[in-house]
Amino acid sequence: MEIYDTHAHYEDAMFDKDRFEFLDGLVDSEVKFILNCCSDVEVFDTVMEIVNRYDFIYGSIGIHPHWVTSTPDDYLERIRKLVKHKKIVAIGEMGLDYFFDDPKDLQKRIFIEQLELAKELDMPVIIHDRDAHEDCLEILRKYKPVGILHRFGGPVEMVKEVTDWGMYISFNNDLTYPEWNKPHIDCLMATPWDRFLIETDCPYASPSNERERRCDSKDCANVIKEVARLRNVSEEFVEKTAKENALKVYRLEDKL
Ligand SMILES: [Zn+2]
Repeated sequence: MEIYDTHAHYEDAMFDKDRFEFLDGLVDSEVKFILNCCSDVEVFDTVMEIVNRYDFIYGSIGIHPHWVTSTPDDYLERIRKLVKHKKIVAIGEMGLDYFFDDPKDLQKRIFIEQLELAKELDMPVIIHDRDAHEDCLEILRKYKPVGILHRFGGPVEMVKEVTDWGMYISFNNDLTYPEWNKPHIDCLMATPWDRFLIETDCPYASPSNERERRCDSKDCANVIKEVARLRNVSEEFVEKTAKENALKVYRLEDKL
């Protein structure tokens, strides 16, 4: 099996103890590609260190909505500088998260500023939308960015609209949680194959039968299996589609 994980967080504190030992172990494994997604300025350096160390790991730089209150004024300039690096292939993750109490106006401002930067630099974006579908879609409609709506379990109509203008939707082991997988499965069923991606969002989203342990990119294998079962296609087809689309969305087709 070949795994192309389009959204992982190896900069996360849960990997502080064994980050490079763990990633060394993935070299020459079934994990062929990882996009290490960034969440806030505090981890910019760690993301850069990870992508510099490993050929198969690329990165994004950006501010997740949950970190907006601790974001310094010069953040946009810092992003602008770092995304020039040839292995930083997207801006994000960015978006809106109304699950926590972070101020909505500030979330929107930082989301919009990053979308504008991505447009100016012609880079794909990674979008986080949790419990904020209406506002998120209203903003996305204005910019119609290219990139990924990640780990999405919102309205199916939103999947249809954003994939129509060319965005991708990524799925992880959320699909395996019987308590709340229904919206994720509905979105999976509505996603055209040429807009479909796989991710883990590790370390926080293990398969439901092992929910206590730290998750990592190898857990994409379970996502591939689950998608094949749900959509009644072969695992090989899911694997191949996920690979081709991952390289397309991050503009790495020359790696195919
Ligand atoms: Zn993430």
